[in-house]
Amino acid sequence: MRYNDSDLKTQFNMTSIAPHHKAKALKSGSRRPAKELCSECGLCDTYYIHYVKEACAFLNQQIAELEAEFHGLSRNLEDENQLYFGVHQKMLAARKKQPIEGAQWTGIVSAIACEMLTQGKVEGVVCVQNTPEDRFQPQPILATTTAEILAARVNKPTLSPNLSILEQIERSGMRRILAIGVGCQIQALRAVEKQLGLEKLYVLGTPCVDNVTREGLQKFLETTSKSPETVVHYEFMQDFQVHFKHIDGSIEKVPFFGLKTNQLKDVFAPSCMTCFDYVNSLADLVVGYMGAPFGWQWLVVRNDTGQEMLDLVWSQLDTQPVSSSGNRHQAVQQSIPAYDQGVTLPMWAAKLMGVVIEKIGPKGLEYARFSIDSHFTRNYLYVKRNYPEKLAQHVPPYAQKIVSQYRLPE
Ligand code: FAD
Ligand code: SF4
Repeated sequence: MRYNDSDLKTQFNMTSIAPHHKAKALKSGSRRPAKELCSECGLCDTYYIHYVKEACAFLNQQIAELEAEFHGLSRNLEDENQLYFGVHQKMLAARKKQPIEGAQWTGIVSAIACEMLTQGKVEGVVCVQNTPEDRFQPQPILATTTAEILAARVNKPTLSPNLSILEQIERSGMRRILAIGVGCQIQALRAVEKQLGLEKLYVLGTPCVDNVTREGLQKFLETTSKSPETVVHYEFMQDFQVHFKHIDGSIEKVPFFGLKTNQLKDVFAPSCMTCFDYVNSLADLVVGYMGAPFGWQWLVVRNDTGQEMLDLVWSQLDTQPVSSSGNRHQAVQQSIPAYDQGVTLPMWAAKLMGVVIEKIGPKGLEYARFSIDSHFTRNYLYVKRNYPEKLAQHVPPYAQKIVSQYRLPE
């Protein structure tokens, strides 16, 4: 069934004054207009579902319009760095001089959030802890203490309903908020930002790709790790290996090229297979790793608000300029049919290929472009095959330009 204005108006008996207040939040999972493409961003758990048709990243791709609104300009497709990484004032590599124990990387995100709170820039921080029973089950919160922020450190590599907190923000009466989140959450948040009635919203984003449901995560861990039950966190690293960190602190490395692609093809959420906002285009500041040397984090400052956040932790950071070397094109082109056909190399060959490509392969920003190209070509094919009617509207012009560099199978 399609979800249209009249459905919504009938269902929620809306008027033109603060219409979302008349809408009813839906029980978690009961109704998702984006259906199987829903990334569980949480908007539909609140009465802001009233705006879902315009706000949902999977129903209405509007990155260029929102870039113009929040950064003052849309990305220039002739500038390679903007084409790939979005509107920005600067990029840099950084790491905390004293890393936060247990953070995903060095904890720059958590450190910024703590400073925002303690220096009085905001009254609350939207972030995501895990449930007491399960370290990978997300539990979004509106944090008001640094202890709560620090308890949200480390990735929950699962779809997380961060925007389910929106009603709580309104009830709390807070006017200055920091939201931490991934691209699909942030697109929906930006689309309803004006309705929140805040004095100031700061948005601190991370890149995101290949997210999974909790069940999907279990399958990924069981298919890929030797000890799935002891994994604390994992990351697809710049050395072309997945690094699993276990409870005892040991690191298990599995080469990308040795992943059991044939078994993992349906593990990633359909929302992530149709996502083209890897770099979180609408956040004020983005903190990831893929454009930085191994062990460093990669920061993209999109606007003055992003710079204001970065300034708060500047003295806590070692920094260096971003760099780039190698050429990704051949590796990406070869990976397209290999992924498509679910080719899995024997482990010895995968390890060897990993070693070679790490020595001569793309590094720094070129690695980030490698990862973006690989995912955009895969996702473009997925949309073309499964949702051909969405292709033109859903794939942003920058992604179409990136994909057009490669030969794709039918
Ligand atoms: P920490 O200080 O450990 O803080 C992590 C923050 O992330 C916390 O505030 C928490 O609220 C938030 N968070 C955790 N899980 C989620 C979630 N599921 N949804 C929304 N917010 C969440 N970076 C890249 O450069 N390339 C990638 O391919 C990439 N993939 C990612 C995939 C996922 C699913 C996620 C969540 C992040 C990804 N990142 C990626 C970002 C990267 O892994 C780190 O999160 C980032 O560098 C921040 O590290 P930190 O040590 O500063 O974060
Ligand atoms: Fe609603 Fe978010 Fe799912 Fe879209 S992605 S249907 S806005 S919960």
